[in-house]
Amino acid sequence: MDFLHPSLPTPLQKLSDQIFEKAQVNVYIKREDLIHPIVSGNKWRKLKYNLLEAKATEQKTILTFGGAYSNHLYATAAAGNAMGFETIGVVRGVEFAENDTPTLQFCREQNMKLQFVSREEYKHRNSLSYLYELVQKLEHPFLIPEGGTSELGLKGVAEMVTETGEQLESPPDFFAVAAGTGGTAAGLLSAGANVLAFSALKGGEFLETDIQDLLVHSEQKGNLKLFTEYHFGGYAKWNTELTDFMDSFKNRFDVQLEQVYTAKMFYGLFDQIEKGYFKAGSTIVAVHTGGLQGLLK
Ligand SMILES: *Cc1c(COP(=O)(O)O)cnc(C)c1O
Repeated sequence: MDFLHPSLPTPLQKLSDQIFEKAQVNVYIKREDLIHPIVSGNKWRKLKYNLLEAKATEQKTILTFGGAYSNHLYATAAAGNAMGFETIGVVRGVEFAENDTPTLQFCREQNMKLQFVSREEYKHRNSLSYLYELVQKLEHPFLIPEGGTSELGLKGVAEMVTETGEQLESPPDFFAVAAGTGGTAAGLLSAGANVLAFSALKGGEFLETDIQDLLVHSEQKGNLKLFTEYHFGGYAKWNTELTDFMDSFKNRFDVQLEQVYTAKMFYGLFDQIEKGYFKAGSTIVAVHTGGLQGLLK
């Protein structure tokens, strides 16, 4: 696997459907799921400058955070291993120590060391004093925050906006993207895009300030529209309505979504198109952020 040789630019494909015709909107899908066979989608974009920085500053070890099903841990384990770093993953939930998920098993195969912490301790993952302690204890690893969501992460995501602008020959009116930590949405905003973010978690209202806090330029804050009602019961929860939607999406467009992020975003986007959210003539680029390692099997 070669993290440094992704398939770029990722394809931009136009989707045709009666509901788009009726609403007179142009919908494209940005196939970030095809960026790399293992380190897919927004995780590749967010890791790029983090890992280049770690290389440039001659770091030995990378430390990062995630849940037991985290696409970010999966991506960091693989990319870190391929680039010759040691990696440590701090995993939310001590109960997984004796009960590896397929994601954690993959991380171990990629030589990631796993440290299981309580949900309570995990809450401190972004606190400076906690991180200071952790770094002291673990011989000063290079820190990548949960989800790869950092300033360097945003810089990588911003490149997707430039790339899309070149493919379309003009910037789209909107990008639509699923949100977990909100780093991808913030990265798109940081490049001057208008962003529709669809929370994959319940109670995602906090994402509004989290995303805005990641932005350096305050004028970009107003370009975010956050949708919080398409969570389907919460993070990594779903029902047959969502899986039926995934199946029909696959049939109609020949594109596989997954149930944690991308299916919820497309479901929400289609619902908003049908409800008349968009002016006639609008162009929307919906980002397939990848994550197919977590596909329901
Ligand atoms: C991690 C992930 C997201 C969420 O990205 P954030 O930057 O954390 O909001 C969306 N889609 C997929 C497929 C992911 O793996």
